[in-house]
Amino acid sequence: MQVRTGKIVGGVLRGFRKVLDFIFPQNCIVCDGKIQEHFLCPACRADIEFIRQPHCFQCGVPADLSYAYPHEEFVCGVCRKSPYQFDQARSLGFYDTVLRTIIHHFKYRRQMGVLPEMDLLLKKYFEENPGFGQGFTVSPVPLHFNKMKGRGFDQAFLIARQVAKVLKLPLEAGLLRRVKETSPQATMTRTERARNIKGAFEVNRPELVAGKSVLLVDDVFTTGATVNEAAKVLKKNGASQVHVFTLGRVVVGKGSGL
Ligand SMILES: [Zn+2]
Ligand SMILES: [Zn+2]
Repeated sequence: MQVRTGKIVGGVLRGFRKVLDFIFPQNCIVCDGKIQEHFLCPACRADIEFIRQPHCFQCGVPADLSYAYPHEEFVCGVCRKSPYQFDQARSLGFYDTVLRTIIHHFKYRRQMGVLPEMDLLLKKYFEENPGFGQGFTVSPVPLHFNKMKGRGFDQAFLIARQVAKVLKLPLEAGLLRRVKETSPQATMTRTERARNIKGAFEVNRPELVAGKSVLLVDDVFTTGATVNEAAKVLKKNGASQVHVFTLGRVVVGKGSGL
């Protein structure tokens, strides 16, 4: 009897350990190496490449400026040809190996344990960029209700909440709502994405948007079609400025296939 109880207890403990491992892995989620805290080993954490100057003043795309050009004034070819509706976009880092793994664990595996890791990253990034977002109200790019129901998880909201906390800014999650379900955009071009997302957003209460400076938050900036459409609707309803912040940025040539 005692043996059997022992077996059951052992089994329960092993099961519990498995659940814990899933929520708080014992090894680095990228390289499986030893971790000291959170989700990453020190080497993988150090491997996350922040996007720093020089980059486009408007859309934030990193620029390869090999000649002496005043960095603050550089505007990329895309922004000069067809400017985005948002005033500025910035991303924490390149959407490549480590950052992509973190976002995937968060978004598709719903590992809330990623949040403290994200907190560290955001603090470091905003320390390097003082004054970021001051005077702005943080708002996530909303998910469609059906997607939210299916996924049970709104990653943009959780990232926005973390950004607001770190920057000590107000968070207003309900400025926009998603009124159109859109097809997955992974394989679409910029034009196709823009068409796909058109008409996807509406404001909930125009009086909450008018005159406001909004910091729109999403997980990844790929072509900017989604945040651009959201910014367009906010501007149309009187938002005075729209800035965008994403954790990851897809940059051609940075090994960031989706
Ligand atoms: Zn690692
Ligand atoms: Zn640009």
